[in-house]
Amino acid sequence: MLTGKDYPHLCSACQSAIDDMAGLYAEDLMEDTDNDDEAACDAVYDHRMFCGGGQCVNRPVGNHGSDLSCLSDCV
Ligand SMILES: [Zn+2]
Repeated sequence: MLTGKDYPHLCSACQSAIDDMAGLYAEDLMEDTDNDDEAACDAVYDHRMFCGGGQCVNRPVGNHGSDLSCLSDCV
């Protein structure tokens, strides 16, 4: 499963939110595990845990190149 460090385009707050969610999946505390590599990112989105709610609005400066977003990756 991908964790926060796999989303370098997200800010540290969002990465830690994904890490936290990945931890829940790792401990099998989430019921709707779909074995998706991006399940943690998906769950963060579902729970609106990004810094901007449904998306990261505080991306690191200098990382706007491809404008990849977690949302386009996993929704
Ligand atoms: Zn963010």
